[in-house]
Amino acid sequence: MRSLITRPRMLAVIVTGAALTLTPLGGQATANRPAGQPSDCYVPSAGAAAKGGHGADTRDITVAEQKAIEAKTADLLKAKAARGIAVPKGALAAASVPVYINVMRDSAGNGDVTDTQISQQIAVLNKTFGGQESSSAANTGFTFYLAGTTRYNNTQWHQDKQSSTYRKQTRKGGKNALNIWLVDFGYLGIATFPWDYARNPGIDGIRVQYTSLPGGSATNYNYGETATHEAGHWFGLYHTFQGGCTSTNDEVADTPAQSSSTSGCPEGRDSCSLPGLDPIHNYMDYSYDTCYTQFTPGQSTRMSNMWTAYRA
Ligand SMILES: [Zn+2]
Repeated sequence: MRSLITRPRMLAVIVTGAALTLTPLGGQATANRPAGQPSDCYVPSAGAAAKGGHGADTRDITVAEQKAIEAKTADLLKAKAARGIAVPKGALAAASVPVYINVMRDSAGNGDVTDTQISQQIAVLNKTFGGQESSSAANTGFTFYLAGTTRYNNTQWHQDKQSSTYRKQTRKGGKNALNIWLVDFGYLGIATFPWDYARNPGIDGIRVQYTSLPGGSATNYNYGETATHEAGHWFGLYHTFQGGCTSTNDEVADTPAQSSSTSGCPEGRDSCSLPGLDPIHNYMDYSYDTCYTQFTPGQSTRMSNMWTAYRA
């Protein structure tokens, strides 16, 4: 199936050994979106009731969990610093990340992106994480290189069915390796968080709609920046609208709060009375690929800390 139906980006969150959060359209953050508007990867707002998903795997990030994750991360950073594993204040972890591309083709060959698209996708990751799309964008210090491409012929996997199984069977590399599974599903992308790696390392990585790669057919979402957004989660970032109009929001101080996700590229959107316009150009909002231009310095620092805590 290669229909151009709208495809939300979405985020998977592992909370227990086998639990996996899949929260498709129907959750709170999508409720205000006009019908037919594309969305992207969905993380439920703290405290929101998750709907849909995959049965018992469905869950939500509560405010308490969000706080617990912050506390756990701080403790890990302290413990690592005591062992000499720390990034000097003001510096970044700045790692070179191996990327394993897993191309999930169906029996008819659908999903078989080209090597050129894959190299272009890696280039987009380097451009976006390198802060090259805006003068106000942060250079996160992370770079990416293609460590391997493997092509599979499996219609079930192509459709993202049995995803925990296929990921465990095909995932490559260690905790520092970014696995990208290219599939055809009802979302633009789904990611796992770094703090869940230890509980379920076999499924760590991001699943990305294959038509979102550069040159793909996902209109408004075919510049390869779905992978940037999902990788942002993989590095530990929330959506910029996490928590809505609250000061805690996405745990990043320089991304102004916003009440809900953005569609398209509405310049000047200001959905909260808190200071600052909505960060519609931020890779962690839901805007069009052409609207995306930046991670902030605060997000860059958060990713560096998360890397040091969970992936270094
Ligand atoms: Zn997302």
